[in-house]
Amino acid sequence: MGDTLLFPDDNQRRIEAVQKSFGPVGTRLLEPHRVLIGEGRLVKQSRRGAQPKAFFLFNDMLVYGSIVINGRLFKKQKVIPLGDIKLEDLEDGFMRHQWLIQTPGKSFYVSAASREEKLAWMEHITVCQTALPSSGLPLAMTWVPDHASAICMRCTRSFNAAHRRHHCRKCGFLVCGNCSRKRAVVRNIHPTKRVRVCLQCHVGLRGKEEKEEKEERRRKRGDSSGLRSDEEEQASFEDHLYEDYIEEDYEPQD
Ligand SMILES: [Zn+2]
Ligand SMILES: [Zn+2]
Repeated sequence: MGDTLLFPDDNQRRIEAVQKSFGPVGTRLLEPHRVLIGEGRLVKQSRRGAQPKAFFLFNDMLVYGSIVINGRLFKKQKVIPLGDIKLEDLEDGFMRHQWLIQTPGKSFYVSAASREEKLAWMEHITVCQTALPSSGLPLAMTWVPDHASAICMRCTRSFNAAHRRHHCRKCGFLVCGNCSRKRAVVRNIHPTKRVRVCLQCHVGLRGKEEKEEKEERRRKRGDSSGLRSDEEEQASFEDHLYEDYIEEDYEPQD
């Protein structure tokens, strides 16, 4: 990544170029206060394996995207406010020169081409962060990689073609379909959508949700009597709606 002190015109031109490289669907990046600190390729660990992504560090956010064939066009843009990011340095292991980027919506491993590059990224992100506020949202659990467990981490049955792997959105564990058939709102991922969670996490989350729903009803109607059947119907309808809810570039069989 380039370590640069930019002239304002140059900064603007470079940000415009980044904005353009994401096409018309990308977020507007050019803002008066925004400075492009550096850019480069990092390998991001995802369920489908390690993939090179284009990363752009601004003074207030980190932007990354998948690289389209010729290497100058990017898609699947992700924008993470720097205030919400927490970094964790890791020893070489699964990947060389790797570290962990934790955010409220998603946490993932990245690796740089060299140790120097890794340290530059981590240092620049940390320096930019010191002046920024955090949303205070809890950070998402890092998903346990698919190959890390051959058995469901809740019921210990072996995975196979008929007994597939899924991820609990709350604890990040690899679990089977049966152990993750429930859905619940995980606030740091989405404020209202119900997402796949394991049974253990569901108990805690659902308890919290029910308490909030009860309060809400009491506030609206001035009574606290339950309406279980209606509610359950609505819940299963929503389960169906969000059945395919997946995070970014993961396959539908999450
Ligand atoms: Zn299981
Ligand atoms: Zn869980």
